[in-house]
Amino acid sequence: MACRICGADEVSERITAREMMFGTREAFEYFRCGSCGTLQIADIPEDLGRF
Ligand SMILES: [Zn+2]
Repeated sequence: MACRICGADEVSERITAREMMFGTREAFEYFRCGSCGTLQIADIPEDLGRF
């Protein structure tokens, strides 16, 4: 999983968050870049229009 900001292939932290606000309860995986510290979603949902 490479960082989209700095391109580093270094993950310092993985976070799985469940969508609760809209009640779909889908799980999203986030990771934090070990180089620049940016928290970003691992997989961008295909249908962003729902959110
Ligand atoms: Zn980075």
